[in-house]
Amino acid sequence: MKLYIPTLVYSESGCVKAHRKELAGLGTRAMIVTGGHSSKRNGSLADVVDALTKEKIPHVIFDEIEENPSVETVARAAKMAVKNQVDFFVGVGGGSPMDASKAISILAKNPEKIGEAQAALYGTEKLEAYPIAAVPTTSGTGSEVTPYAILTLHEKHTKKSMAHHVFPQLALVDAGYLKTISKEGLISTCVDALAHLIESYLNTNSNEYNRMYTREGLCIWGSVKDVLTRESAPNTDELEEFMHASVLAGMAISHTGTSIPHGISYPVTYELQVPHGKAVGIFLPGFLTNYENQEEVKQILRLLGFAKLADFTSYIEKILGKVDIPEELWQKDMTDILANPAKLKNYPFTLSRETLDTYYER
Ligand SMILES: [Zn+2]
Repeated sequence: MKLYIPTLVYSESGCVKAHRKELAGLGTRAMIVTGGHSSKRNGSLADVVDALTKEKIPHVIFDEIEENPSVETVARAAKMAVKNQVDFFVGVGGGSPMDASKAISILAKNPEKIGEAQAALYGTEKLEAYPIAAVPTTSGTGSEVTPYAILTLHEKHTKKSMAHHVFPQLALVDAGYLKTISKEGLISTCVDALAHLIESYLNTNSNEYNRMYTREGLCIWGSVKDVLTRESAPNTDELEEFMHASVLAGMAISHTGTSIPHGISYPVTYELQVPHGKAVGIFLPGFLTNYENQEEVKQILRLLGFAKLADFTSYIEKILGKVDIPEELWQKDMTDILANPAKLKNYPFTLSRETLDTYYER
């Protein structure tokens, strides 16, 4: 067994301000990598700017990271970073900016590769990266403690994890940034964390180390699951629990990777613009129903506080609703995943087309 999570994590209210010296210690010139809106609304961008300013660290802001960032966008940001002699990055936001900061960091450290960004990010040549700090503002991706970066490849009409593994050096986790997220956004990102926990638990690479994180994460997630079905807004304690579960889920998939629901979700997100968590979550009931080791499925349901699988299925349907996937897209999605050993390797059994077909409830 192997345990390796080299990220220093502070998970507490006000942690960006409290740990600004550690943030500033990552380098001499920073680039803040973020999206266009939410980090401005929830206060995270202002906190990071303030922390760097107080520590007298010159910084530039790249705030053009789109949802499901493309290779073209990260290449553009890397050019700006090189021009400004940036030597560390702060990813602020959901999975998109944090993942993007990992890819930008690699390209900025290897500026001769920017012109061939896709080949560099998906190639086998080992490439160094500059240090990264991550400030998550959703309780979903866990990217602040994982080495993964998923980027959109327009020419392939899907999203794909880059070849290189880059852990952030520092994660500053403040659940206060979740307060302004929409109900829909909260549901989708929380379901993403739930999927990470389930797909890490039921995984070829699963062992006692990742299950240490998944058991705790599933218990916590289960303790606040009713928040997503009720009318009233979550309180601070409930948001903290979701954030805590999301970080634990990230630590879990750092060991195991994800499995089939993630693998088949990417074309659904690319072609139909279904948010990541929702695109993954709709396949969870089918994944659990058909999983060969039902004893392990029962363990998951018990940890989440569901009496039986049917209760889990109706809960997921209630919070996510249905997604209409055109038959042609679904058939192609199945063909592609079943022909891709890299996407099947984390699934411990043989997966037939008939079984996979039942994951999508028409
Ligand atoms: Zn995910």
